[in-house]
Amino acid sequence: MSSPWGKSQTVPVMPCSLEDVMSEQLAHELQQQEEKESQHVGEKRTIQEILAAASESSETTDDWLLAQMLQQEFDREHDQTLRVEEKKFNGNNKVSISFENYRVVHPAYRDDEEEDDEVDPDEIENRKSAWDSPSPKFNKSGVSGKGKNITTKHDAVICGRRNASKIMDFGPDFHSGDGEGIDMKLSNKVYNTLKMHSLAENKRSQRLHEKKEFSTSEHVLDPRTKLLLYKMVNNGTLESVGGSISSGKESVIYHAYGGSKNGVLLSPECAIKIYKTTLNEFKNRGAYVDGDHRFSRDEFKKNNPRKVIRIWGEKETANLNRMKKFGIPCPAVQVLNKHVLVMSFIGEDQIPAPKLKDADLSLEDLEDAYDQVVKMMDTMHNKCALVHGDLSEYNLLWYQEKVWMIDVSQSVELTHPKAMEFLFRDCCNVCKFFQKAGVHNVKEPEKLFNKITGLNIKGKGAEFAAQVQRYDKERSAELLAHQITTKEYAFDYYFEKSQQDRLEEAEEDPEEVVEERNDPFEYFYEKSLQDKADQSHQEVGSSEDEEDEEDIEEELRNADVEKMDKIKLG
Ligand code: ADP
Ligand code: MG
Repeated sequence: MSSPWGKSQTVPVMPCSLEDVMSEQLAHELQQQEEKESQHVGEKRTIQEILAAASESSETTDDWLLAQMLQQEFDREHDQTLRVEEKKFNGNNKVSISFENYRVVHPAYRDDEEEDDEVDPDEIENRKSAWDSPSPKFNKSGVSGKGKNITTKHDAVICGRRNASKIMDFGPDFHSGDGEGIDMKLSNKVYNTLKMHSLAENKRSQRLHEKKEFSTSEHVLDPRTKLLLYKMVNNGTLESVGGSISSGKESVIYHAYGGSKNGVLLSPECAIKIYKTTLNEFKNRGAYVDGDHRFSRDEFKKNNPRKVIRIWGEKETANLNRMKKFGIPCPAVQVLNKHVLVMSFIGEDQIPAPKLKDADLSLEDLEDAYDQVVKMMDTMHNKCALVHGDLSEYNLLWYQEKVWMIDVSQSVELTHPKAMEFLFRDCCNVCKFFQKAGVHNVKEPEKLFNKITGLNIKGKGAEFAAQVQRYDKERSAELLAHQITTKEYAFDYYFEKSQQDRLEEAEEDPEEVVEERNDPFEYFYEKSLQDKADQSHQEVGSSEDEEDEEDIEEELRNADVEKMDKIKLG
């Protein structure tokens, strides 16, 4: 048994003096010995290379290597997250923020997929300077070198290189290709042609850009419309065209200061209504023209949007003229030129009168406004033989204590197959608005309708509306049956009929005749006279034929677009 306190049998350690241990030489020797033993002997390798080698050999037991490998994996993951964050942050922005400085893995050791396409700007600079370098320095007279080696600034090679270099400054849209690094030379002729092309392209793209902007925000102001306005300003019809007042689905309204036409002064302030030329927006409006004997539906059938668009101007002109004639407060037509209608401005100093919807009237004014509107509707129906068709607080303006009726391009004749349906809708809109606004004596729409038309349709709401539609149908069927004989003017039939009826009834009961004055078709005779007057007015707008179209095309080709653009619009 050996005693725990017994003498231990350890291998004797070679004594070594402290001096030896501390000696630098020994330390150096030990270091060398260690390095020799290590597997990385003699190779000056970076950590990355060591790691690469280690990861190739399937296993390693070296703790240091394992730690490094783990760290590298960790760094790579960090970089990957960073890249995702960077993409998320920048999105599709043209200017992007780089997270490069937060990356950990050295670019040289990143995976291929991580590599950036970006070229080092210094490299570009170097390439460019190398490319530019062949050009020697010229003195004031454009000469370089002496004797045999003399070179002038017109030297073909130098010029060629300079030209090639210059095309890089043509602007980002010019696809010059990557000429850098190639000793490219361009002759003056080629260079000049390219330069001219670049300038022309630049101008064209600017024009395209403008056109695009106009087609969205200033939709209707296509070159034709601009030409029309430009001509009106040029020939003094208009003093100037100002800002846009409204831009709706079907038209755009601009303010303008009036000039004079044929020696007649226009209204000092005008509203220009430009009907939109997109067929899509108008395709639903055929219903308003269909059945209106004054406006041929043939144009719709021909599908010529430019001609179709003029119909609205013609319709609005004719309707406004008729309304004016019977004293309805409405804009006065000044000039109609194709799809551009100039009328008097309701308002002052470029500020349009508010719509009833926005007018913020006192109850007293509202009650007055209601009475005025009812009177207007009555006159419109019984004197003008028209139905507004889109009557509401949006198309009634309040100016100088009066209600003004606007927007009558869709208004229809009483012979229209849906005239009564439209009228009942107008009645509903008007009554609803004034009722809501707190006016006390507002009639029920059914009563208002019967009062205006002199009809005696019974029922309420949907039932009433259905009866109105039935009435429309019966009336248009009757109209259609007789249209063959009356050809163009359907109201001639009604005029004749009413005359006949009156005669017959007069024979039976002379007093009945007076009552019959409420017949909606009683006034057609008067209307036929008005129509003839209106039509002569419309001739300005409707006399356009194919030749005229060609003239416009020609004018457009020759038009000074820059000058046209100078009329301030919007
Ligand atoms: P839309 O068919 O686009 O509704 P409107 O004829 O109703 O066209 O005009 C649109 C807006 O332009 C009106 O609500 C009104 O504010 C303004 N406006 C139209 N005509 C005139 C005018 N003669 N004077 C003043 N403002 C007008
Ligand atoms: Mg309107």
